[in-house]
Amino acid sequence: TKHFPVRKRLRDLFSRTPAVVHAVDDVSFALHRGRVTALVGESGSGKSTVARLLAQIYPRTAGDIRLHGTSTRVRGGRPFRSYVRRVQLILQDPFASLNPVHTVRYHLTRSLRIHGNAGRSAEDLDKALANLLTRVSLAPPERYLDAFPHELSGGQRQRVAIARALGADPEVLLADEPVSMLDVSIRLGVLNLLQDLKERLNLAILYITHDIASARYFADETIVMYAGRLVEGGDSETVTQNPAHPYTRLLTESAPDPERITGDGAGAGIDEAAGKDRGQGEPPSLISPPAGCRFHPRCPHAMRRCTADVPPRLTVGDRPGHWTACWLYDPATVAADAPGSAAP
Ligand code: SF4
Ligand code: MG
Repeated sequence: TKHFPVRKRLRDLFSRTPAVVHAVDDVSFALHRGRVTALVGESGSGKSTVARLLAQIYPRTAGDIRLHGTSTRVRGGRPFRSYVRRVQLILQDPFASLNPVHTVRYHLTRSLRIHGNAGRSAEDLDKALANLLTRVSLAPPERYLDAFPHELSGGQRQRVAIARALGADPEVLLADEPVSMLDVSIRLGVLNLLQDLKERLNLAILYITHDIASARYFADETIVMYAGRLVEGGDSETVTQNPAHPYTRLLTESAPDPERITGDGAGAGIDEAAGKDRGQGEPPSLISPPAGCRFHPRCPHAMRRCTADVPPRLTVGDRPGHWTACWLYDPATVAADAPGSAAP
């Protein structure tokens, strides 16, 4: 859970409970080595906050983050430090994450040194640098080592950012919209690279995206976030082809064809497609989010209970691991809401 205090305003001085943004509430999931998990949601749903929590950039408001079962609750403690090495974040904009006055060699050397992977001699270091660049298919390495970020294409810069993350020898990669700023024509190449690294290095990858179509193509599991909460999860095929939650259905209906990430198309995501253009409302304010199910103001199936009680995770159908947080999957709630039912 992560709540951000809102900048002080005069009226807050008179209010007992200072305003907070409920950016992430009760979000819980597991990542596994050798698997990609997609975290799908609109902008403002809290998915980048999840990435920053997992990267330990933001301290959390409540909850815990564990690596191999070991808590990282004590910031700066030994488990915390080993976690920070093992879990690396890749950002959306590789241009912003690389320092423009430094070469590729500098960025990669620094990562290798910080994480103790630079070896003992100059030869060791050269070998490690060549290795990193080869892993991200920037070959021959000599061609890239002394380049500055502005001399590279967007795709090459993102590959350098990935190589830098690999310099830490991580177990987990957190990729926050890693291809959304790249030209459509090179997105697939970067996604395929991540896929390949997952297999060769047995990485756990969290792939954060607003594009549910790419989750089907790229992720083993998919979890869906709406207004700071998880609403559905399961294997990607099931979640994207047979979505259970009304919000996920809205996303899949408005998501364009997956071919789009390989071919032409403007790359319009659900930010544009979902809701707004379809006259179905906007995501709610996270300062005072709707009570009960946060999707209820937009939901065509909302029942009386939805406005009061937060839906728990309920199992859907017979697909193992497929769950949703929606009262439609609780038969007692549906029965109580039926016309003529006495239940309030
Ligand atoms: Fe709609 Fe209720 Fe399900 Fe929320 S819990 S998605 S409001 S039916
Ligand atoms: Mg974001």
